[in-house]
Amino acid sequence: MAASGVPRPLVVANWKMNGLRRDGIDRARALAGLARAKGHGPCDIALCPPATLLVELRAALDGSEIALGAQDCHATESGAHTGDLAAPMLADVGCRYVIVGHSERRAGHGETDEAVRSKALAALRAGLVPIVCVGESEAERGRGDGVKVVRGQLDRALPEGVAADALVIAYEPIWAIGTGRTPQAGEIVALHAMIREACAARFSGGTAALRVLYGGSVNARNAAEILALDGVNGALVGGASLDAVGFWTICEAAGRHVAAAPGR
Ligand code: PEP
Repeated sequence: MAASGVPRPLVVANWKMNGLRRDGIDRARALAGLARAKGHGPCDIALCPPATLLVELRAALDGSEIALGAQDCHATESGAHTGDLAAPMLADVGCRYVIVGHSERRAGHGETDEAVRSKALAALRAGLVPIVCVGESEAERGRGDGVKVVRGQLDRALPEGVAADALVIAYEPIWAIGTGRTPQAGEIVALHAMIREACAARFSGGTAALRVLYGGSVNARNAAEILALDGVNGALVGGASLDAVGFWTICEAAGRHVAAAPGR
């Protein structure tokens, strides 16, 4: 927790399926260089590259305080699951975080909320912090069902009885991902407040330490405004995380709001 009693912001880079060894390692080194040059990072930072880069990026990030994360994990510890990665394997190569339930996995791999919950539980068992993604589609939003959809996702996808700082929630409206469009500030604030309220009964010890990130077309230009909003405890960043300097600008924007009013 930050000195203000609110959780320290977390900014997560999701490189998705981008990066060969040559450019991925260079980009991670550039980011780590910025972090080392500026001393302790402005906020908690995690880098989630493609799995092929995890091992080498662990070394590239050494000494930078930037944590390593993965983009998905399997719900079980080992076994006949060709092509999948188990959470203990991710922990074994130095991951601290793992994204689960990203809308691209829900859409592309048919992941249900129940599957997302199993993955989050597997991550917790392995000592990882799951970043559980929720968010409504454009059609759901158009029908005025956004809040109902996200609430249902939380009900089904979140494990119960865990400490609020054991996991992270990312609110990512699907229609905002990769489109350059973002919700109105008031919509983000309302959704984040709803998420915090909906989680109150699920976590042991309250939700003060819960981090609710916003994701969807965050970039170096809009980060300061979005990250200053009530209840926004950081960002999950896709496209804009592929540029180290731009991503660092987003991290700095998050860091500037650490000491904002309680309830953020
Ligand atoms: C994401 O994929 O989680 C994401 C937020 O992407 P983008 O920042 O590119 O919208």
